[in-house]
Amino acid sequence: GDELVGAVHRLISHADEVRRLEVRTNADTADDAARARRFGAQGIGLCRTEHMFLGERREAVERLILAEDEAECEAALAVLEPLQRKDFLELLSAMDGLPVTIRLIDPPLHEFLPSMEDLAVKVALAKERGEDPGHDATLLAAVERLHEQNPMLGLRGVRLGLVIPGLFAMQVRAIASAAAELKKQGKDPRPEIMIPLVGAVQELQLARDEVEGVLRQVAEDEGVEWPTPIGTMIELPRAAVTAGQIAEEAEFFSFGTNDLTQTTWGFSRDDVEGSFFSTYLEKGIFAVSPFESIDRDGVGALVRMGAERGRSSRPDLKLGICGEHGGDPDSIHFFHEVGLDYVSCSPFRIPVARLEAGRATLS
Ligand code: PEP
Ligand code: MG
Repeated sequence: GDELVGAVHRLISHADEVRRLEVRTNADTADDAARARRFGAQGIGLCRTEHMFLGERREAVERLILAEDEAECEAALAVLEPLQRKDFLELLSAMDGLPVTIRLIDPPLHEFLPSMEDLAVKVALAKERGEDPGHDATLLAAVERLHEQNPMLGLRGVRLGLVIPGLFAMQVRAIASAAAELKKQGKDPRPEIMIPLVGAVQELQLARDEVEGVLRQVAEDEGVEWPTPIGTMIELPRAAVTAGQIAEEAEFFSFGTNDLTQTTWGFSRDDVEGSFFSTYLEKGIFAVSPFESIDRDGVGALVRMGAERGRSSRPDLKLGICGEHGGDPDSIHFFHEVGLDYVSCSPFRIPVARLEAGRATLS
């Protein structure tokens, strides 16, 4: 056993010496980040922030959704901000000295709205008993207003940030003030801010202006400075096609191949695997699920196009991938060929990603 473990370690160390691709991790908590660091992660390539709004924070989220004016919105955001600040303080501490790409909130709305069915039942029962459904009725009306037939194609990512005033600004203030505090402690926080689901440079421009304004303000108030690259995910075909324009507003791109696969094939990420994929696999339409291994001819071609167009407008554009494909051996070879700078995958896939990145260089 020991001999084998030693051999694997030597192999991975050798891969580290030759590989060109950096290997980062997808991690949303300090615990995951610390684990990934032990596995050799060179940073966080994707911190998803939407889970940070669930659990006991849901109440504030409901108030945010229910808000009828900016003051109510601000009150709800003021509850969330110190909690977010703590999240980022822990995460940036765990990854001190390494890049931490924090993606601004990108929930499919249905995942963090209260259930419309449950609310409807509650309201109906209250009415039956001749009681005032009160808060539940207001909440139900808001949830009905926001209900979407296709939440994955709906009010998500940058769209949500542009629609709910102050939401992105709150997150960025939390990130920046956490970084400022660490900086004052002599630490080396390296946050990067990533805008999700961008399809047009105009969306990114608006979000970026807001982000930059907040970063400037916090740096001024706190009297410390640190660089914060701002970038975007490329996860819609339109983003890949217009990557030349988008790169003018982005210091980095991270390919979101989960959504890019969904939107390129028109397959629903949530439903498709159970319904007809087995037939497709049997009939040889594809040999592996395109959600697992990169589809070079379609999704892969868009990744290549996005990388080329992005780099031709901004030669120093940093390029990564943070979809599930970032931990898939065959896909890693493809990302190496395309010339990406890093792959980002779940903590447990890091050793394999390091090995494959090395093999990709050698072949
Ligand atoms: C993606 O779409 O590939 C991605 C990494 O984002 P998420 O899975 O959170 O949508
Ligand atoms: Mg995505």
